[in-house]
Amino acid sequence: MPIRKLSPLLINQIAAGEVIERPASVVRELVDNALDAGATVIEVAVEEGGIRLVRVRDDGKGVPAGEMGLALEQHATSKVAEPGDLERVGTLGFRGEALASIASVSRLRMVSRVKGEAEGALIEREGVQGGGVEPVGCGFGTVVEVRDLFFNVPARRKFLRSPGTEMGHISDTVQRLAMTHAGVGFRLSHNGKTGLDLPSGQGRFERAVALLGKDLAEGLIPFEEEVGGGGAAQNPSASAGLGRPAKVWGLAGEPSLARATGRAQHLTVNGRPVKDRNLQHAMREAYRGLIPPDKFPLVVVMVELDPSEVDVNVHPAKSEVRFRNAGMVHGLVLNGLRRALLAKDLTPKAGFGRNANGFAVPVLTPTEPVESDAAPGAFVDYFKRMDPTQKGLVFEEVKREMAEAEPERLMDQAGQEQPVPVGVSAAERALQVHNSYVVTEDDHGILIVDQHALHERVMFERLRARIIDQGQALESQRLLVPTVVDVDPGREVAAERLAWLVERLGIELEPFGKWKLAVQAFPSLLFDRGVEPGAFIEELLDKGQAGAFDDGKARAGGDGAQVEAALSEVLDMMSCKAAVKAGDKLSDGELAELLKQRESIERSSNCPHGRPTTLRLSLKDLERQFGRS
Ligand code: ADP
Ligand code: MG
Repeated sequence: MPIRKLSPLLINQIAAGEVIERPASVVRELVDNALDAGATVIEVAVEEGGIRLVRVRDDGKGVPAGEMGLALEQHATSKVAEPGDLERVGTLGFRGEALASIASVSRLRMVSRVKGEAEGALIEREGVQGGGVEPVGCGFGTVVEVRDLFFNVPARRKFLRSPGTEMGHISDTVQRLAMTHAGVGFRLSHNGKTGLDLPSGQGRFERAVALLGKDLAEGLIPFEEEVGGGGAAQNPSASAGLGRPAKVWGLAGEPSLARATGRAQHLTVNGRPVKDRNLQHAMREAYRGLIPPDKFPLVVVMVELDPSEVDVNVHPAKSEVRFRNAGMVHGLVLNGLRRALLAKDLTPKAGFGRNANGFAVPVLTPTEPVESDAAPGAFVDYFKRMDPTQKGLVFEEVKREMAEAEPERLMDQAGQEQPVPVGVSAAERALQVHNSYVVTEDDHGILIVDQHALHERVMFERLRARIIDQGQALESQRLLVPTVVDVDPGREVAAERLAWLVERLGIELEPFGKWKLAVQAFPSLLFDRGVEPGAFIEELLDKGQAGAFDDGKARAGGDGAQVEAALSEVLDMMSCKAAVKAGDKLSDGELAELLKQRESIERSSNCPHGRPTTLRLSLKDLERQFGRS
């Protein structure tokens, strides 16, 4: 075949291949246009999952009759005019290819009337076929109808899923756009049935609750965070010369609201719903230890940046952006979410339900705020202590390691001193049950602590404070007799990749003949808790080989977030190994120590794996169950 210029139809269809993947992409483009046109109400009507019809009606500024033809041409837009404009895109659209692409793969009809005009204009296209612009009587604003998507591209049509599935994508798209544009009214119907009906003029919180469900409102913790602008001097992490402060507004869902998929995560940057691995990482980090690793927190995160700080021209379907300072935005989101989560007591509540026989049985219910009208200390007078002669577990090392980190933990991120936790009373009144649980009290009722989960959480938080927040290495001790570990090529590569991490942990590994490594020094903390160096290193290398502690080395010193994630992962592993186990008998001193530590750390209510460490039976519940109220 000789070289030839492609026909306009083919050019547009090729563009459509990137921009229009499915009916939901059509919805996104048309709603984007309506929002760019300043609409206050947008109606989306869909038939057969959008495969037969997508109709979007808006009350925006409209398209002048003289520009209707141009609007459907490729590379035709009213939103950018010169190269510099690309640096400060303030609209959702700017590529000028959506309508042309859609028209090339469907039967399209657009009707529009500009305010003040006596009549509107109509244009129709089928592929590229179609007539001119005709006058028509209609209301103000624009209606775009797209029928029979991919009717002329059978290969694409084959990839469409069932109407139900396609409708799911459409609904998701509309909800994401509605979340960011709270003031705009949205209506979505499928085959004539209204699914979503959101009034205009809503506030951000109100809109979020309308979309996520009223019953969740209590579990949504609002937050706001800002860096840069006038505050740049106080915050060295803000990028220099930032025109406008970078802001994030959002809602942190309580851990109990976490979902099995990422669908309930709403992330937008300057009003655009986007996917961003860097910020997804920030969300995961904020919830590290509060939810299981395979769950997704329910969050709404809206980032607002000076347009010069984001490049929106990186993805044809506009679903990704690139940040000039990704680290700054990561920190912004992470801090916002963390603060929100720290502001609330997340101790899950143990309540009572009834079993099949009608007996009251304790059940774990989602987190509820503590009721403060309970009589302080009224319930448990004194728990008998266990026999104090038992052999103690070595807590001394932990205590010493941690004592240094302590003062730091009493400052919040703004450097404000926090009240030193009081209430050692709980530690003085504790009972170990079945060598696995610790029962004690606080002002609101009875606390039941999972000793392994809590100790693991305590270790994790403290190790984190020392190694990550303060950047110190772990104290280690030289082994009298080095432990020799067998390595294969896979482990050897992992050992090289993880060298930086191993060093941060205070571990010394040396080559020891062919396919062997010698462990010369090992963290005192692990050693004293009886963790076997050889087995630990083998596990570390095997996990590294399987992809754990990812990217840490490549970015060591560069991308703080990656390093932090890798360190957190390994500290997680260490805490689990070093923590007391279920079945370990604890001395009085250890019990008291553990409970005291519980009061002094953040996020003590869940272990690093997201299981709760502590359940609370409130006095109210007990009174109810005993028929006293
Ligand atoms: P882009 O949005 O990237 O500019 P489109 O192909 O989506 O490209 O739209 C082309 C042009 O048509 C827009 O720049 C805008 O001027 C006009 N337009 C499209 N939809 C609407 C609408 N609903 N209301 C007003 N003008 C619109
Ligand atoms: Mg557009």
